[in-house]
Amino acid sequence: MDTTALANLLFPEVTETPADLEQRYPPRNLPEGARVCRMAPSPTGFMHLGNLYGAIADERLAHQSGGVFYLRIEDTDQKREVAGGVETILDTFSQYKLPFDEGATLTGDSGAYGPYRQRQRASLYHVCARWLVLQGKAYPCFLTEEELTAMRETQAAEKLNFGCYGDFARYRDTPIDLIKSLIDSGKPYVVRYRSEGDLSKRIAVDDLIRGRLDMPENDQDVVLLKADGIPTYHFAHVVDDHLMRTTVVVRGEEWLATLPIHIQLFGAMGWKPPKYLHTASLMKMDGGSKRKLSKRKDPELALSFYSEKGYTVAAVKEYLMSLLNSNFEDWRAMNPEKPLEDFPFSPKKMGTSGALFSIEKLDDVSKGVVSRMSADEVYGELTAWADRYDPDFAALLRRDEAKTKRMLAIGRGGKKPRKDITAWSDAKTYLSFFFDETFTPDYTLPETVPAGAAKEMLAAYADLYNPADDSGEWFAKVKQLACNFGYCDDMKAYKQTPENWPGSVADVSNVVRLAIAGRPQSPDLCEVMQIMGPEMVRQRLDRMMGAL
Ligand code: GLU
Repeated sequence: MDTTALANLLFPEVTETPADLEQRYPPRNLPEGARVCRMAPSPTGFMHLGNLYGAIADERLAHQSGGVFYLRIEDTDQKREVAGGVETILDTFSQYKLPFDEGATLTGDSGAYGPYRQRQRASLYHVCARWLVLQGKAYPCFLTEEELTAMRETQAAEKLNFGCYGDFARYRDTPIDLIKSLIDSGKPYVVRYRSEGDLSKRIAVDDLIRGRLDMPENDQDVVLLKADGIPTYHFAHVVDDHLMRTTVVVRGEEWLATLPIHIQLFGAMGWKPPKYLHTASLMKMDGGSKRKLSKRKDPELALSFYSEKGYTVAAVKEYLMSLLNSNFEDWRAMNPEKPLEDFPFSPKKMGTSGALFSIEKLDDVSKGVVSRMSADEVYGELTAWADRYDPDFAALLRRDEAKTKRMLAIGRGGKKPRKDITAWSDAKTYLSFFFDETFTPDYTLPETVPAGAAKEMLAAYADLYNPADDSGEWFAKVKQLACNFGYCDDMKAYKQTPENWPGSVADVSNVVRLAIAGRPQSPDLCEVMQIMGPEMVRQRLDRMMGAL
């Protein structure tokens, strides 16, 4: 076969060789040990936890080593692409504060190893594919969909492996004249790699978390370029990660099965493969057994779920880090104040079996993170969330900034801060009693207090109430109220002989709480009343008295 004639026939426009590309994209000038990692999402409009999970690993490996973290858009599958898909990717990473050093941006590219969108790299793949054709390692294949289906049926009937290999690779040795006439007649074709791999031979590949992998060679003639000249994932991965000088490819374990193809293609191009790190899939417990998180069944797989609910970025990252590195929680316990970036992230501490994701666990982490934030920080993040997802609530929060911050400050600071808020969407319910617009009281009384007594208690309390009372004075008055109505004002005594009283001071204060907050639990009531001010407090007392 005259491979030069074939290469010229298939790629008349290509003038460069891989050696030219090597010069255009030279090895990066980085210190010893610096890692180059990339995030390579497809612009499908759907960003999921797995993307973020991998990206945190990429970002840490790169930046912890003084290396480069870049973004490549894998847009070879136009059918799956949605308008605004790239924006969604960029938005997500900026929201999660994973700073790319180079890559695709909204306004174009930044960096010397671009273009960073695969469809714009077509000419580079063609240079490499042409070179493989020239070496006799690639060829055009004209098998139609129908022929491929028939091939599959034969293979199924004869219990053979599926795919295009050996004798099934019918176009391997097609004479150039026939190729030319097929092309001239407009018959579509793909470019396939001519595999000399043998399934009975083994290859060894090292994975940063899985150690040495022993795998069969690839015997399939995989497609390098599709009929439209756009590469498959396999070929694009090899060409891009080489020319962009990636040193560690972090990707999901679903790519393990095709790793022998990638190793083979790197070899064919005469390139050294990067290091690989195949991450474990995110799993969840479902009815007593573990399964992979699924796009169809699990809304919590989508990153939009966390934005809409208003989980803090810090909490989601913190939780994912605990799934990525088994020693993270211990480190966090020892270093509660340190930024996440100080944690020495290590592939050695990554698990190979599925990482078990639990929303309850995330909620716990989240409550802790929010409880340690200052009222100012909470105000900033909460209003930004509400501006986007609940503008009416945002307007209430912004009506009196100083007052809202006082509401948010209750129970903050100190050793045991309150943990009322998991995500910002909880805040509306939590704060609802502070605003008449969102106040929806449930006046169900404690069993120990009949409605008539409650009404009288509230009237008596209205007389005792003084907005200037500090918490000591406030509580003394509630105790006094309890005594006046024959309720026990000493909880210890009450617990010993509850039958001696109709109820305790806790029941009496709960009646006041129901009036003010409309529910039996609230943060410190004295503080709540101070923030509300006398006018609202009196209105609330009147309102409940009117309802009894
Ligand atoms: N575009 C591929 C994906 O989204 C990237 C896999 C990789 O990181 O190599 O699954």
